[in-house]
Amino acid sequence: PPAALNKVRDVPTLCPYCGVGCALHYGVDEAGVIQYARGRNGASNAGRLCVKGRYGFDYAGHPQRLTRPLIRRDSAYPRGPLSGFSRQNSSGPRKPGGIVDYDEVLPHFREASWEEALDRVAAGLGGIRDTHGPDALAGFGSAKGSNEEAYLFQKFIRAVLGTNNVDHCTRLCHASSVYALIEGIGSGAVTNVVRDIENAEVAVIAGCNPTANHPVAATFMKQAASAGTDLLAVNVRRPGIADYCRQYCQIKPGADVAFYNAVMQVIIAEGLHDRTFIDARTGGFEALQAAVAHYTPAVAEPLTGIPASEIIAFARRLGQARSAMFFWGMGISQHVFGTDNARCLIALALLTGNIGRPGTGLHPLRGQNNVQGASDAGLIPMYYPGYQSVADPEVQRRFEALWGVDLPNKPGLTTAEITHAALDGDIRGLYCMGENPFLSDPDMNRVREALASLDFLVVQDLFITETAEFADVILPASAFMEKRGTFTNTDRRVQIGRPVREPPGEARQDWHILRDLAQRLGHDWGYADESAVFDEFVETAPPYANLTYERLGEQGRWYPCPSADSEGERVLFSEVFPIGRARFVPAELGVAPDLPDDDYPLVLNTGRQLEHWHTGVMTRRSRALDAIAPEARVEVHPDDAARLGISEGQWTQIASRRGDVQVQAHLTRDVATGTLFLPMHFREAAANLLTSPELDPFGKIPEFKICAVRLVPLSPP
Ligand code: SF4
Repeated sequence: PPAALNKVRDVPTLCPYCGVGCALHYGVDEAGVIQYARGRNGASNAGRLCVKGRYGFDYAGHPQRLTRPLIRRDSAYPRGPLSGFSRQNSSGPRKPGGIVDYDEVLPHFREASWEEALDRVAAGLGGIRDTHGPDALAGFGSAKGSNEEAYLFQKFIRAVLGTNNVDHCTRLCHASSVYALIEGIGSGAVTNVVRDIENAEVAVIAGCNPTANHPVAATFMKQAASAGTDLLAVNVRRPGIADYCRQYCQIKPGADVAFYNAVMQVIIAEGLHDRTFIDARTGGFEALQAAVAHYTPAVAEPLTGIPASEIIAFARRLGQARSAMFFWGMGISQHVFGTDNARCLIALALLTGNIGRPGTGLHPLRGQNNVQGASDAGLIPMYYPGYQSVADPEVQRRFEALWGVDLPNKPGLTTAEITHAALDGDIRGLYCMGENPFLSDPDMNRVREALASLDFLVVQDLFITETAEFADVILPASAFMEKRGTFTNTDRRVQIGRPVREPPGEARQDWHILRDLAQRLGHDWGYADESAVFDEFVETAPPYANLTYERLGEQGRWYPCPSADSEGERVLFSEVFPIGRARFVPAELGVAPDLPDDDYPLVLNTGRQLEHWHTGVMTRRSRALDAIAPEARVEVHPDDAARLGISEGQWTQIASRRGDVQVQAHLTRDVATGTLFLPMHFREAAANLLTSPELDPFGKIPEFKICAVRLVPLSPP
């Protein structure tokens, strides 16, 4: 190594990005600068990293980091950003990070001391609580933060502010899956870990694109395929993993229920279902059998676009397998019928007896690094930590005794409901920690109106995000590599992230900010450190029993962890489900609310790409990732492009019933004719200007996958 690297020390920690939760070492020099990341032999990654983990760490040292609290100079409207969302800046030098224009925003704020800023927040939130009642307040926590931060944030909103209006971005990714899982088997987490695919004869990869969104998990899928596992992929947009699949079915948008019902119809008709498992461990089979009976392959073919022969081949391969795993992602969950889609996959696993053994099971691939843990820690409006209902009087009494306060028993509002309530004037104050709802939530023009209508908004983050542009107070927080805390990955593995650098300037640990705000509002929490917070979280959340910082060590453990010396459970529900017998819940094919017509003839699908993450707050400030993928591109099928007169790289306008964006085209056969794909990470081609605010009635997840649009070519700028 170069001489300078001789003084670099290796710190064992984790990747701050996706739910795979790869273990890594950061090489840190004497000045506290991270020089490199290299994979560590963790249970979920075996030393592997993707481009985000390997090169995406320098955002923490970006010059735009917030170093002092900021207070809005005056409350004059309009607040928040008004432009810069519908056109990429293709001419002139790009601004650092290519995102928020600090020169434009900073004059609206002044620096403040922590004392003044915290006093202002306590007065802002406390004043609304006292005048309009606790339910006029809400909090958005973060799946990027630790379990300890999630636990304290929901405790702050419930015990200090007095409302259950607390949620986070799980509502935008797998809320529908979790609803269906809790309903069907009694538990919202995965039943088998990703690497168990090496024991599977077949793996269904439904509505997900793991090579882009869970890249290291995808390497284990490819490896399994090479060793003989048959991968069966179903997706509207061709995923990279299709190259490794025995069968890939490119279904029509919104046709999942028809496809999986038809697969189940064939399996039952051909006697390939597992009658022993069904009789011993499930209920409701007859209702399912009746519901899927009319979804014959011939009926499903025009609904799904998949030839009947392919549906039959899929069903036979799955039905004949001794073991099969089911992975799914946003293509299943981010629909107004996302819960029904997930119900079908759960039913398929139960029907074929594929839960409770190695090489089987249900695995919704979790998106952010701690979305599993944040949900486990109660950062959701209907559950305390450990998925204990806020409406259960016995549970309420236990938490009141532990926290020493009276607690509300009315389930709170979900993310999109909070925005809707702000528009109606029912939510007046919002605390937003590490989330960027202005870019991440559907129908940005509605969200803009909602955020601008708040009486008080406090944002706690690393940078001035698009949401922070609306804030009354902005609090500078700590990055992943500046804090100690536990994170729970998609496998239910709880691991410790360790600090390798100090927060810049006066930026502070998020949990210190929460503790000090609680104190200003009359609650003395008195935790000695993060591990004391974790211990209290474990005390409240039964699935985390037996876990301590000491036992987690450098490698972490899976939950549930039956004893102090156990590694934790790789495979759940071998004998019994938490609800006793699992339930078949039949689903009928639904209709998306925003369908194409003559004016908007195409279907827009939104999602993620390999190099970026969420609203790009971190990855777009990482030099390497920004250099590789600096701009959005809309994916267009070459046949549609030829028909519309669009060539590769040409500027286009995408218009929906709610807004329009201008973006360059990329021609690819990965998307089907009649469909487009636009990534959601880019402010200047904001996908959510276009999307619809309709929600799934159960999981309350928005429809991010079906949005009617038109595409027109533009002249070069
Ligand atoms: Fe990080 Fe996910 Fe990539 Fe692993 S797969 S390095 S956790 S982004």
